[in-house]
Amino acid sequence: MAVVVQKYGGSSVADVDKLKRVAAKVAARRRAGDSVCVVVSAMGDATDDLLRLAKQVSADPPRRELDMLLTAGERISMALLSIALQEQGVEAISFTGSQAGIITTDAHATARILEVRPTRVREELALGKVVIVAGFQGVSARKEITTLGRGGSDTTAVAMAAALGADCEIYSDVAGVFTADPRLVPWARRQAELSYEEMQALARAGARVLNAQAVEFARTTGITIRARSTFGGDEETVVRAGSGAARIAGVAVEEELALVDVAAADEQRALALLAAAHAPATRVEGAVGRAVLVVALENVHGFEPLAAALRREFDGVRITAEGIGAVTVVGTGVAATPRVREALLAALAGLGAVPLAQESGPLGVTVYAETRWLADTAREAHRLLIG
Ligand code: ASP
Ligand code: MG
Repeated sequence: MAVVVQKYGGSSVADVDKLKRVAAKVAARRRAGDSVCVVVSAMGDATDDLLRLAKQVSADPPRRELDMLLTAGERISMALLSIALQEQGVEAISFTGSQAGIITTDAHATARILEVRPTRVREELALGKVVIVAGFQGVSARKEITTLGRGGSDTTAVAMAAALGADCEIYSDVAGVFTADPRLVPWARRQAELSYEEMQALARAGARVLNAQAVEFARTTGITIRARSTFGGDEETVVRAGSGAARIAGVAVEEELALVDVAAADEQRALALLAAAHAPATRVEGAVGRAVLVVALENVHGFEPLAAALRREFDGVRITAEGIGAVTVVGTGVAATPRVREALLAALAGLGAVPLAQESGPLGVTVYAETRWLADTAREAHRLLIG
């Protein structure tokens, strides 16, 4: 009997109707004889809605309480899916991350999974039940409830698959991983296969279809990930060890970035201050004598107090925290291919825009620009480099 972990994203369980359809899909798999553990995300925009509630109460909500609040989103979908399965005559039981044995670090809002102890999950699977686990959450050694960062349900699924020795299927509203988000580039094509490194680089560059930490987990544990569409056909993208051959994997867009531009001499202290405030930054290419630090704001939840601290601490610091994003061409060897950077710069120039910063590494070339230019830059870079 094969054990499979299936993860369903927020859009797949966005309303009761979709939940029932997911339940039917899970039920069919169970009836076919597989042992099924399901990881769910919060329904639709539930996580954003909960965050908005917190922001109405405080501009800088305590991260511990945010975790208590946000984990409620996945508890709702896990319970409803279990109810739907039982209604369809399939035995099921739901567990929070903590009950499922997801042990994490203490870092609220950006916790890392340290260990999975799926004792209760195994027991219930052995009884023939479908086990539903709330994604995106765990518990620390001090019994604090934590979350794994936005998009963290993927990580729950991969970690659970590794612990159970199961296959891992990730279902969303797109049929796999495309050379760009098909909502942005409708002619983007599906990649049949991606290496862990390519997928991780795409995820880090903003591709939402799989979470970067999840892919890292899959790489270190050797788990194969299959990304498919929930209500679509059999098309999929398989993520596993690759050949490392040079090629372009895709174009990704990331929004909600902040650029912190300090004197080069202040770089180390500024990086340390940001890291201590749970807003880790990376240095990118900027003007001579300056250090441009990029902060992803997604898991920061209240950058203003931090920006104020930076302004107090560093003379001449320039902070742009709104309306900034990046376009990255991801692929093995792209930094060594001058036409990749040229295409990105030409795409921006064609719009009359200039890059605010640039960066290139072994798996990607990035331009940072105002948000309003990102979609057209991505489309044109895709057209020039991929088609
Ligand atoms: N619900 C969480 C989020 O929206 C986790 C997830 O969807 O994976 O980020
Ligand atoms: Mg979600």
